[in-house]
Amino acid sequence: MAIIDATVTNKEIPHIIQEQIVSALSHYPELTDTHIRFKFTRSLGGSIMAARPVVASLFGDRKNRQYEILISAVFKLSDSIEPIHQVEDDVLIGWIGHELGHIMDYEQRSTMGIARFGLLYGLSKRYIRKAERVADTFAVQRGMAPYLLATKNFILTHSGLSEKYKNKIASLYLSPDDIVALVEELKHSDKEEKRKVIAEEEVIGDEIK
Ligand SMILES: [Zn+2]
Repeated sequence: MAIIDATVTNKEIPHIIQEQIVSALSHYPELTDTHIRFKFTRSLGGSIMAARPVVASLFGDRKNRQYEILISAVFKLSDSIEPIHQVEDDVLIGWIGHELGHIMDYEQRSTMGIARFGLLYGLSKRYIRKAERVADTFAVQRGMAPYLLATKNFILTHSGLSEKYKNKIASLYLSPDDIVALVEELKHSDKEEKRKVIAEEEVIGDEIK
């Protein structure tokens, strides 16, 4: 078992999936000091993982804000149960990477913004789709596309997962094709961004001359 990296601070990590969590966290240096508790739970209302702020921590100082990533200890399959830690590493890393994307999103929001998020997420399928896209976008920007693809392909092709669950995933989450398109889009916007920066620097350079 790997020793937890010294840069992983303010985290509570279950030993059994420690390596996968640390690997996903390594893509998010901006979350190094963020308080995140990874916690196994028995039931998650049909989900496998969920990221949420600890409500009580939202009312104090911003730097004391805490988050939880709840992880269902097992998958309920149609005729059996599969412990989550037996899932392939890349699949699990992609899954955690997606949840960390949600935390990146929360981190940019005020307490009011988070309250609004919670409300709209509960009310609107369109809003859920938007929020899920934002989480995946953070993960793709941080080089996690191959892991996300592993996760999505795992879910969509898993013969033992219920059709209901697979349909929910297909209707609310980005598909593997969407991820590939997103990678291309971000590559392009990166170039665009660089062009803009270079153009701006040239203007400033001209002004100095
Ligand atoms: Zn999500």
